[in-house]
Amino acid sequence: MALFSKKDKYIRITPHITQKSAVSQLVPEVPDELFAKCPACKHSIYQKDLGPAKICPECSYNFRISAQERLALTIDEGSFQELFTDVETEDPLNFPQYKEKLTKARENTGLHEAVLTGLAKVKGFKIALAIMDSHFIMASMGTVVGEKLTRLFEYATTENLPLVVFTASGGARMQEGIMSLMQMAKVSAAVKRHSKAGLFYLTILTDPTTGGVTASFAMLGDIILAEPQSLVGFAGRRVIETTVRENLPEDFQKAEFLLEHGFVDAIIKRTELRDTIAYLVGFHGGVR
Ligand SMILES: [Zn+2]
Repeated sequence: MALFSKKDKYIRITPHITQKSAVSQLVPEVPDELFAKCPACKHSIYQKDLGPAKICPECSYNFRISAQERLALTIDEGSFQELFTDVETEDPLNFPQYKEKLTKARENTGLHEAVLTGLAKVKGFKIALAIMDSHFIMASMGTVVGEKLTRLFEYATTENLPLVVFTASGGARMQEGIMSLMQMAKVSAAVKRHSKAGLFYLTILTDPTTGGVTASFAMLGDIILAEPQSLVGFAGRRVIETTVRENLPEDFQKAEFLLEHGFVDAIIKRTELRDTIAYLVGFHGGVR
């Protein structure tokens, strides 16, 4: 009986007009928000079964989460101090509707830009932290993302802090054209200066990390971790297949494939990342 009574909670009865009779009928409908389809194994999962870390119980794929959810899962409560929210794009191409798109993305995500930058503590260790959020214009890298990351690396270099970046990106921000591509070199130079100062840089690749982000700072970490089943690559599968005229393996561009081929140091479940970050930062001279 419990099974049947439970169903009532998530089956919604909505009036439905059939084309033939145009008579109002009652048709049961399951609201989308109660189930999530796993992009990796294609199973429909009851949202509650994903848990706060949003991990597929069938295949352990780590669902995309917001920067705020990432903070809650990773850092010591209340330790985050956001930096560099004063950076604004100059919209160099005067791209149609770009400003409106940014405003909408800010409203929808509660974020200033596609990357959240600041200072935080993980199990007491002080770190400079950047989290990219794919819900914000697919975490594309434009001038603001590049500038915020550069400033964070420079700040960490001055303050002798280790730096942790959660990467996610659909690539360069096309609305800013060539200025977006320049961010790859700019951030990479800041990474190098941080590295030369003998400081630790950890990257955690999350689903999806592609394009200019992969081709620059995502792959420059002293240690590179990835979440299970994340898509990590530069160009998309179809682009490569068309160019090289070969079929690619099924798991191509998956974190597991990259681990096997030496591009990633370890695959760590989201629920274990907090402990892993603290361990690695502590091991590389982190201070509490
Ligand atoms: Zn799954």
